[in-house]
Amino acid sequence: MPLTPIAGTPDPDGGDCVACGRCCHHEPNTVHLLESDDDRLGPDLLAEYTVLDKRPPGWRFIKNAGERCGALDVSAPGLYPCAIYERRPEDCRIVEPGSPCCLEARQLGHLGTSVEFRRIV
Ligand code: SF4
Ligand code: SF4
Repeated sequence: MPLTPIAGTPDPDGGDCVACGRCCHHEPNTVHLLESDDDRLGPDLLAEYTVLDKRPPGWRFIKNAGERCGALDVSAPGLYPCAIYERRPEDCRIVEPGSPCCLEARQLGHLGTSVEFRRIV
């Protein structure tokens, strides 16, 4: 389920992100990996958190867990830390707190379309 909307502009330094997590709620095959992401994650995290799309050109994506990213740690109610934050993909790094994409995600309760990467269908 999408989360409820959050009003207001978040801390630009990311101080509100763990209590938000809206942009980490999205459909499968949304966060794709570059070669540099593969290298940063390493074989163990790639095996745990990513999946190869069978269709050409064979993109690798972060796995989903229902309607959210599979790397989102939801073990503590109301908190949404990224389990691979230091090694998260470039797709995630371009979503800056307070950006149009961020504000849209906070309004919708999930990732919207105001972002440079799109789900590949
Ligand atoms: S939607 Fe914005 S405030 Fe919320 S987690 Fe993403 S970047 Fe942070
Ligand atoms: S990898 Fe981390 S930052 Fe990126 S969508 Fe998943 S939980 Fe969010």
